[in-house]
Amino acid sequence: MRFRWATASHVGQVREANEDSVHPEADGAGDGPLLVAVADGLGGHVAGEVASRLAIQAAAATGGDVAARVQAGNAAVVARVREQPELAGMGTTLTLAELTGNEAAIGHVGDSRAYLLRSGSLRQLTTDHSKMEELLSAGLITHDEVPTHPQRAMITRALGLAPDVEVDTVAERLEPGDRLLLCSDGLTSMVDDATIEQLLAGAASVEEAAWSLVDAANAAGGADNITVAVVDAGP
Ligand code: MG
Repeated sequence: MRFRWATASHVGQVREANEDSVHPEADGAGDGPLLVAVADGLGGHVAGEVASRLAIQAAAATGGDVAARVQAGNAAVVARVREQPELAGMGTTLTLAELTGNEAAIGHVGDSRAYLLRSGSLRQLTTDHSKMEELLSAGLITHDEVPTHPQRAMITRALGLAPDVEVDTVAERLEPGDRLLLCSDGLTSMVDDATIEQLLAGAASVEEAAWSLVDAANAAGGADNITVAVVDAGP
């Protein structure tokens, strides 16, 4: 399988710093294996930036499966906090995909997401580790209540907070024409899935797809940092 990818990260309209990190930073094309990753740092803007960057660097530098990569990201953040106690409390989400042949392996902690667009329809591949997801799946709130809910930003699992973290993994067989999206919540808190589907399906290239999503989040208010990685699986 041949892959084409583009990534984009934007501070948004409200925040002073961008605490998200993305991998790879340069757009490109190749036969794979390809690793793409999005991380959304927490803990104040210096610490958040450190955590998301460290997690992605460690995940990219590690061998092994996607769960091992996410664990390496966790270990790197935990180790840095031990060295620099002033960074205590920093953490990060991490959602990554390793694409090899026609197989996509996804590793995931937090509320960044992976989606797959196939034949024009969008499917979310990951489940958020968030208070909103817990309340939604328990039937205690509706999707309409999420945008204004006081706990809408609360995540229930993150890297960097403990030596061990539970990692979700998802395996997906790719088909030619598939378009994969990884994104931080700065996209999904601003732009609904129907609009994401429409923008992804309508974009002629991965670059156009990535930037049209960032533009849409900014047009909707850009309340958070916005980071996306888009990969096309070709024949
Ligand atoms: Mg965010």
